[in-house]
Amino acid sequence: MSKTQHFDILIVGAGLSGASLACALRGSRYRIGLVERQRPQAAAGWDARIYAVSPANVDFLRRCGIWDHLDADRIGPVERMDVSGDAGGRLAFSAYECGMQSLASIVEAGRMASELWETARRQPNIEILCPAEPAALDFRPEAARLRLSDGRECQASLVVGADGVNSWVRGQTRIQAHLRPYEELGVVANFACERPHAGTAFQWFREDGILAWLPLPGNRFSIVWSTPDAQADAMLALSPEAFTAKVAEAGGHRLGKLELLTPAAGFPLRFMKLDSTVASRLALIGDAAHAVHPLSGHGINLGFQDARALADRLLALPAFRDCGDENVLRAWQRARAEETLLVRELTDGLHRLFKPSSGPLSLLRNAGLSLAGSISPLRSVLARYAAGLT
Ligand SMILES: Cc1cc2nc3c(=O)[nH]c(=O)nc-3n(C[C@H](O)[C@H](O)[C@H](O)COP(=O)(O)OP(=O)(O)OC[C@H]3O[C@@H](n4cnc5c(N)ncnc54)[C@H](O)[C@@H]3O)c2cc1C
Repeated sequence: MSKTQHFDILIVGAGLSGASLACALRGSRYRIGLVERQRPQAAAGWDARIYAVSPANVDFLRRCGIWDHLDADRIGPVERMDVSGDAGGRLAFSAYECGMQSLASIVEAGRMASELWETARRQPNIEILCPAEPAALDFRPEAARLRLSDGRECQASLVVGADGVNSWVRGQTRIQAHLRPYEELGVVANFACERPHAGTAFQWFREDGILAWLPLPGNRFSIVWSTPDAQADAMLALSPEAFTAKVAEAGGHRLGKLELLTPAAGFPLRFMKLDSTVASRLALIGDAAHAVHPLSGHGINLGFQDARALADRLLALPAFRDCGDENVLRAWQRARAEETLLVRELTDGLHRLFKPSSGPLSLLRNAGLSLAGSISPLRSVLARYAAGLT
C-alpha cells in the first residue's frame, strides 16, 4: 500500500488561479501540494490566449514573484478604450482620466502560466504533483483525503479547487453550479497591423457579436470576437486571407492592412454562479467558482483576486488555527462576494443589452453609449470598471 503524503493545502489545478495562490503562499509555514494533469506550455510565437490583466493584479503578480520575470517587450499597456455601438453610439476614455498609467496590461496566458509554474517549482514548501489526476476525494472532520488515479494518497487540512469551469473538485461536493452557456464562441487570433494603435483597445458592439482589438507591443494586436456558435464556426472555417479581410472590415480598417500572426481558435463562453464557494475543508477559486463573459476581460482578474484574498487570509491565521475551518473560509467567501457579484452581473447585463438581435433596444443603447461618453464623471467610472477597480 502506498504511503500517504501530508500537506496543509492541496490545490487541484495549476492554471493561473491555482498556481498564483501557490506562489502567493511561497515561503510560508504551509506545506502545499499542487495537483495538475499537464504542465503549461508557452507558445513559440505569439500566444492566441491573451489576457487584459488589471493594475491591481499586476501588483499581485509582482507579489507572486513573476511580474518582473515576464518579457516587458511582449506586454502591451492599454492606455485608452474606444467603444462603438452598432448604430452610431460611441464612447472613449483613457487611463489618464482616472489618474492611472494604464487601464490594463495585455499579457500572453501561456507565458504567465509558465512563469508561475517555474516559480512554484523552485519553492521548498511547494510540491508539484504532475502529471496527476484526482480520482477520489473524501472530506473528514480531521482532514480531506485525495486519491490520485495512479494510486497515490494525499491528505490536507484544506483542498482548493482551481480546476476550471468544469471543476472535478466541485463535482465531488453538494455545491450547486448554475451554468448557462452563452451559445457563443470567443474567437481569438493575433494580427500585425499597418498603422500604430497607440495603446488603444477598440471594442465594437455589432449585430453579429462583440469584437475587441487589444493592443500588443509594436504594430500588433489580438482579437476576441464573441459571436453565436454558428457564425463562429463559419468564421473558423474561413481561409486565413478571408478571415483577415473580415476582421479588417469589421474594424472599419482602423489600423490599415492586417496580417494574421496566429491562426484563429474558438472557446465556448459560459455564465456560471455557485450557491457557495466554500464548505468545510474546501474553497473554490477562479473559473471553478465563477464564469463570466469575456466582453469586459475580467475572468482571470477575478481568479487572481480570489487567490490574493485567500492567501492574505491564510497568512494572517495564527499557527494554532485550522486553515480548513469553515468559519475561516466563510469569511474569505464574504470578502470576495461583492466584487464577484458586481463583475458577473454587470458583464452579463451588458451582454444582454448588446446581444445580437436585441432589436428595439438598439437606438436606446447607442444613445446611452454616446451619453455616457459625454459625461466626464461617468467616463471615469467606466475607466475604473475597465481597469478592474469596481
Ligand atoms: C475567449 C476568451 C477570452 C478571455 N479573455 C480574458 C481577458 O482578457 N481577461 C481575463 O481576465 N480573463 C479572460 N478570459 C477568462 C480566462 O480565460 C479564465 O478566467 C481563466 O483562464 C481561468 O483560469 P483558472 O486558472 O481559474 O482556470 P483554468 O484556466 O481552466 O485552469 C484550470 C487548470 O486545472 C487543470 N485541471 C482541470 N481539471 C483537472 C483535473 N481533473 N486534474 C488535474 N488538473 C486539472 C487544467 O489543466 C488547468 O491547468 C477569457 C476567456 C475566454 C474564453
